[in-house]
Amino acid sequence: MVQTLSDTIVALSTPPGAGALAVVRLSGPDAVGITQALFSKKNLAGQPGHTLHYGTLREPASGEILDEVVVALYRAPRSYTREDVVEISGHGSDFIVRQILAAFLRQGARLAEAGEFTKRAFLNGALDLAQAEAVADLIAADSALSHQVALNQLRGGFSDELRGLRAQLVQFAALLELELDFGEEDVEFADRSGLARLLAEVQGVVRGLLRSFELGNVIKNGITTVIAGRPNAGKSTLLNALLREERAIVSAIPGTTRDFIEDEVSIDGLRFRFVDTAGLRDNPADEVEAIGVRRTRERIGQAALLLYLFDLTELTPSEVQADIAELTAALPKLPALAVGNKRDLASPAQLAAFQALAGENQTVEIISAGQRQGLEELQAALLAQVRGAGLAGAGSATIVTNVRHARALEEALGYLAAVEQGLAQGRGTELLAADLRHALAALGSITGEISTDDLLTSIFTQFCIGK
Ligand code: GDP
Repeated sequence: MVQTLSDTIVALSTPPGAGALAVVRLSGPDAVGITQALFSKKNLAGQPGHTLHYGTLREPASGEILDEVVVALYRAPRSYTREDVVEISGHGSDFIVRQILAAFLRQGARLAEAGEFTKRAFLNGALDLAQAEAVADLIAADSALSHQVALNQLRGGFSDELRGLRAQLVQFAALLELELDFGEEDVEFADRSGLARLLAEVQGVVRGLLRSFELGNVIKNGITTVIAGRPNAGKSTLLNALLREERAIVSAIPGTTRDFIEDEVSIDGLRFRFVDTAGLRDNPADEVEAIGVRRTRERIGQAALLLYLFDLTELTPSEVQADIAELTAALPKLPALAVGNKRDLASPAQLAAFQALAGENQTVEIISAGQRQGLEELQAALLAQVRGAGLAGAGSATIVTNVRHARALEEALGYLAAVEQGLAQGRGTELLAADLRHALAALGSITGEISTDDLLTSIFTQFCIGK
């Protein structure tokens, strides 16, 4: 059912600023009428949807020409919002756009709120909630993978998976409700063992979706990778080499990188957020540095990956192992990559010593940050660490990226577990039905379906109980 929202909204749909084109979009019952008030050369009223019209926009009162434009017409319900939509492509100037918007407002349009076109699309049934949210993600996507995930969600991949599960649960919920209708009589319509099987299956899927949230987060927000190491190991130089720009201050005085510098590098479609930290040292020379070292440990606590950088000419393999062990003491599962720097200065014996370390269950990469050698191998090793930790490479599987969805899935999981437990303990139908209803509501909140309506529809269409 198309719900008509009575007012017509207008907004600039392209970024502000100078450009070849600016697109002003209107949506609502008066979209065509309001456009016509300014548009000359053609009568738009009789034109079908999905057509383009060239003409002039004029200020109606003064007749002053605002712009030469092309108007694209979309007729309800065949439009993004399912309402009448007009998209006006004019010249990309803030001045012209301001004038056009002001003229439309005088004709009775209202400035759209943030996301209002998509909100209308949802209210009018063109998109479900998860898909509407994907629109925002798609616009914000800035890596190949986050784009792919958002696009999959927009096409309804995530929603389909949930809808299938909910449909099965709704059947059982309907049967349980039916038992309740029979009140005192001791009847069981819902097959308890079938329900137990379904519960186990649904919980498995929901758990899988929740696990994917961790990956989804990585894709959406990047993999936080802390670069740690002793002063002068070459951390800033490496970061600069990775970023290919001189951001961090590089100097030969130990302990100069006192603050954190974060930047992002896209490797193979995955975003790595690199955090350069203050140098680690056993006896920090001054208080500022001591604070830096403590904060480094804190940052490692939030990282998904540790890149421990050391100077091949300064440290022995056992010192390297000791440093890594100390840094990851509180986080034994944190993937850590040891990177030996200043290959250009290292002796053959020093190189050989670290090659031996690589044999001992520790990934070691040998590079020269200063000379930009070994960086491609380093990037490949970073990807391998991330994939090894299960943080990437999920292929086309459904990936949850939205915090709201993750919370709803957690809530659903809690209620599903309660139903399962209730079944095992032979709890009354009423309690089972209540928990199941909550689980359905939580799952339904993701796509914006309303569970009580679902239940009623299911009950009345499937059963003629003649009561
Ligand atoms: P940080 O304290 O770990 O951030 O170290 P920096 O990046 O400031 O580097 C310390 C010093 O080592 C600087 O003088 C760099 O130019 C030098 N350096 C860094 N990488 C290399 C390298 O691969 N080879 C050589 N020879 N010098 C390097």
